[in-house]
Amino acid sequence: MAGEDAITHRIEAGGIVRVTLNSPGARVNLLTSETMRTLDEILIALARRDDVRGLLFESAKPGMFIAGADVEEIAAIDDAYRAAEAARFGQAVFQKIADLRIPSACSITGPCLGGGTELALACTFRVAADTPEVRIGLPEVQIGIIPGFGGTQRLPHLVGLTRALDLVLSGRTVSARTARKMGLVDLVVPTPLLEREALALLERAAADPRGTLRRVRKPRGAMTTFLEGLAPWRRFVLSRARKSTEGRVRESDYPAPFRALAAVDAAFALPLHQGLDLEARIVGELIPTRTSKNLIRLFKSQTALKREPDNAVASPRRVRRIAILGAGIMGGGIAQLAADRGIPVRLKDVRQDALLTALRTASGLWRKQIAKGRLDRVEFARRMALVSTTLDERGFSRIDLVVEAVVEDLAVKQKVLAAVEERIGERTVFASNTSSLPIGEIAARALRPERVVGLHFFNPVHRMPLVEVIAGPRSSPEAVATVRAFAVELGKTPVVVRDSPGFLVNRILMLYLGEAMHLLAEGMRIEQVDAAATAFGMPMGPFALLDQVGLDTARHVAGVLEGAFGKRIGAATPVLGALVESGRLGMKTDGGFYKYAAGKRRSVDPKVYSAAKVDRVRELPMETLQERMILAMVNEAAVCLEDGVASEARDIDVAMVLGAGFPPFRGGLLRHADETGIPLVVDRLSRLADAQGERFRPAELLREMAREQRHFYP
Ligand code: NAD
Repeated sequence: MAGEDAITHRIEAGGIVRVTLNSPGARVNLLTSETMRTLDEILIALARRDDVRGLLFESAKPGMFIAGADVEEIAAIDDAYRAAEAARFGQAVFQKIADLRIPSACSITGPCLGGGTELALACTFRVAADTPEVRIGLPEVQIGIIPGFGGTQRLPHLVGLTRALDLVLSGRTVSARTARKMGLVDLVVPTPLLEREALALLERAAADPRGTLRRVRKPRGAMTTFLEGLAPWRRFVLSRARKSTEGRVRESDYPAPFRALAAVDAAFALPLHQGLDLEARIVGELIPTRTSKNLIRLFKSQTALKREPDNAVASPRRVRRIAILGAGIMGGGIAQLAADRGIPVRLKDVRQDALLTALRTASGLWRKQIAKGRLDRVEFARRMALVSTTLDERGFSRIDLVVEAVVEDLAVKQKVLAAVEERIGERTVFASNTSSLPIGEIAARALRPERVVGLHFFNPVHRMPLVEVIAGPRSSPEAVATVRAFAVELGKTPVVVRDSPGFLVNRILMLYLGEAMHLLAEGMRIEQVDAAATAFGMPMGPFALLDQVGLDTARHVAGVLEGAFGKRIGAATPVLGALVESGRLGMKTDGGFYKYAAGKRRSVDPKVYSAAKVDRVRELPMETLQERMILAMVNEAAVCLEDGVASEARDIDVAMVLGAGFPPFRGGLLRHADETGIPLVVDRLSRLADAQGERFRPAELLREMAREQRHFYP
C-alpha cells in the first residue's frame, strides 16, 4: 500500500515527462527508500528513450513540494555501513537526473527540505512559487547529520562557498525570493503561473540548452568565482566558519556542523565522485551517533505535539480575532506574534504609555526583519495595522479568544475576567498567561469557567518556542483544544499540563536553581557551579540564570512552590531572601551573583558570599555538581509524571528542551535518565538523600521502574 502511488510519471504529447510526487494518505511528500527506488526505475527507463525532451518534477499536494527523507528510516539505521550505503543510493539516483541528456526542472510550490532540495539541486532548473509557503533548505544538521544525497557537493557550486556554508551549517530555510537572490532557484513566479512557466522554460531549454541556462541563471560574480578557485581563500572562509561554529556548539556534543565543513570543503577540493564518497561516509559516521538519535527523537516528539492528537475528545474552534488584556512585556509580545501570523488583535491596557511601548516594540522587531530583507514595507504596514489599541473593552464582541497578560495578581486577574465576560460571546475562550496562579482560582467566580484556560508563554515571546497549555479543573476540552491549536498557529509547540503550582517547566527548573543555592550555602564557588552546568550542556549556569530572571521574581516563584510542595522545592529560599533584602535583584539592578556593566555579565561579585552569609569555601568535583543539579530535576520530573502534571515523558523532555534549554543532544531530561540507567539514577538519588537530605529521596515512580527494569522510552 505505502509508496504505491507516492511517485508517478507520464509522458505528454510534446515529449515532456512529468514526475508527480504524492505520498498516499500523508500531508507531506517524503522521499522514502521505496519512493527513491521507484524514482530510480523511472530514471533508468527515461535514459533509454530518445522521444523525450524535458523532465518536470511536481507535487500533487498544494503548498507542499518535498519535506525530505523519512526520519523514521534514518532513526532505524544504527550501523555506519548501512547508513553510508543509503546515502550512496540516494546520490546515485539524483546523479541519474543530473546525467540525463534532456533538461530537468522542478516546480517548488511549498516546503522543499533536505532530500527535496537535493533533488532540486540535481535538476537543470529550479522554479519556485512566490508564496510564503515555499521554504527551501538543508536542515539535516538539526537532526545531527549532514545532507547525504549530494547536497554538500552541489549547493556550493550553485550559490558559492559562503552562502552554502551558512545554509548547511545552520540548517535554516529561505523563502523563494531569497533563494532566487542567492541563485538557489532560477525563477520565482506567482503560484497560478508556476506550471506554465516551468514548462515553457523546459521547452526553451530543449531547443537551446546553453542559451536558456545563460539567460535564467543568476551569474556568479567574477570575483567570487576567482576567489573560490583559490585554496588559501577557501581555507580562510572555512576557518572563519569553524570558529563561529565553535562559538555556538561543542564538537563532542554536536559533531555534524563540524563534519559538514569537511564535506563542503571537498566540493571544491575534490572531483565530484570523491566529494560524494566523502559525504556518504560522513553521513554513515553521523547517523548512528547518540546525538543524532536524540535529536531525531526530539524532532518526532515536537512534530507529534504540534499535530492534533488522534484521541482528541474535542475539536478546536477557529481563532479569527483575538483580544489581549495587558500590553506589557508579555501582552505586547503576544500581540506582535499574532499580527505576524495575520491575526487581527485588539490590545487593551489601562495605560496609554504601555500601549505605545507595545506598538514601538512590535514595530522594532519587524524593522529588524526589514533590515535583513525578510519583510517588505507593504507587509510591515499590513502587520502594524492588524494591532488596534484600546483603553476599554470596546470592539470585543466578535473576539474568539481573549489572552490575559495583566499583572500577576489573583484579584486583578479575577476582576479583568469578570469585566470582560460581560463583553464577549458565550463561546469566546479566555486564556490567562499567568506564570504561577492556579487557573482554577482565576476561574473561581467566572460566569463560564469552562471557557477559562491557561496559556503560558515564555519570555521573549517571539523567540521561545514553547507554550504550556493549562487545563483547569473545569476547563472544557473544546477550550483546551482551541488554545492548543492557536499556539500551533503561532508557530509554537504546545504541551498540555495539569493545573498545578509552577505548572511544568518552572517547577522543574526551580530544583536546578534550588540545588545551586544549596551548593552556595555549602561554600561552593558560584563560577564553578555555573561552569559545571554549562559543561553539561545547559545554556546558562543557575546563578547567571537567576540574575536574568531577577532574584525577587525567583524568590516569589520559589515561595509559591514551597507553599505547595514543601521543603523539597523551596528549602533554599532563605539564601535568596537574604540576597533580595540586601538589594541584589540581578541584571536589572546591575548586580546579582555577578556584576554587570552595560547589560554584560562581568565577574562574580565577592560580596555575595557575605550577603548570603556563606563563611566557608568548599570544592567538589564537577561531576558531583552536575549530578546534584541534574538529578534533582530528574526526580522532580518523575514526581510530575506521578502526579499527572505531565501525561508522558515525551512532553517533559520537549518542554525542558524548548522552555529551559536542556541540552538537545541529550534528548531531554528523562531521556538522559534512561541513558544513565534508571537503577543507577535511583541508587545515586538514595545516596544523595542520605548525605544531603530528604529532597533527594527517589520518586516512587523511579523506584518502581528500577525494580521492573522499565525505561521512560521503549
Ligand atoms: P508587565 O508588568 O510588563 O505588564 C502588565 C501590563 O498589564 C501593564 O502594562 C499594566 O498596565 C497592564 N494592566 C494592569 N492592569 C490591567 C487591567 N486591568 N487591564 C488591562 N491591562 C492592565 O507584566 P508581564 O511581564 O508582561 O506579565 C504579564 C503576565 O504574564 C503576568 O501574569 C506574568 O506572571 C506572566 N508572565 C510573565 C513572564 C515574564 O517573563 N515577564 C513570563 C511568563 C508569564
